[in-house]
Amino acid sequence: MTTTDLLSVQGLAAGYGGALAVRGLDFAVAPGTIAVLVGANGAGKTTTVQVIAGAIRPSGGTIRFDGETVTGLDCPAMVDRGITLVPEGRLIFARMTVEENLLMGALNRRAAANLARNLDRVFALFPRLAQRRGQLGGSMSGGEQQMLAIARGLMAEPRLMILDEPSLGLAPKVVAETFGLIRQLNAEGITILLVEQNVRQSLQLADRAFVIEKGRVVLSGAGPTLLDDPFVKTAFLGL
Ligand code: ATP
Repeated sequence: MTTTDLLSVQGLAAGYGGALAVRGLDFAVAPGTIAVLVGANGAGKTTTVQVIAGAIRPSGGTIRFDGETVTGLDCPAMVDRGITLVPEGRLIFARMTVEENLLMGALNRRAAANLARNLDRVFALFPRLAQRRGQLGGSMSGGEQQMLAIARGLMAEPRLMILDEPSLGLAPKVVAETFGLIRQLNAEGITILLVEQNVRQSLQLADRAFVIEKGRVVLSGAGPTLLDDPFVKTAFLGL
């Protein structure tokens, strides 16, 4: 952990009704990089990113973003600072149109001021969403809903975009497109924190990856290096 990290998480603890799901978790994300959290089901990945996004209050530890302590702030305050979560399961508003879903991503003060420009930008990035701007979110395909969830996140002008299981339930071709998109957003300057079950593909693009077990980081390193790690091979790659 260094003073130049965009995000740093130290000793994080969080849980549900007294049961801790995250217990003393440490990791950091350097600006402009892609960081990946991997781990078995129930390891605490979603809880971790929900805390960073302000959706769950931590019971211990410190979160710093861009030099400021932001521990325990709520979602609007985190979004205002530039942290946006694209949640697991997409959480598209089914009875709202594509365009209305996008506008829901732009409720913070900074992004609201640039709404027209940001809408043009996401429609240029996702022409399919532009074509279907009047279609109900719930009638979009799984891949289109994932696209819409990412586009809605971009409407908030994130500096750190957190994506929780973006490839879940998608066809292999759409998974490849989603990983390509994540690379592209990163190349455009957005720092990425990715939670993934798809360990092989996510480690390939990770500048830094963290393996979580029982609410703690048990292993970390450059993504491609971890692909060769004996524990990672046995636990996640079926080798
Ligand atoms: P997955 O890959 O299955 O999504 P995960 O690593 O993201 O798993 P979490 O969803 O953070 O793990 O769950 C960590 C622990 O917290 C699990 O034991 C889970 O059962 C528990 N948990 C998660 N959400 C809740 C909740 N709303 N109420 C009670 N316990 C919860």
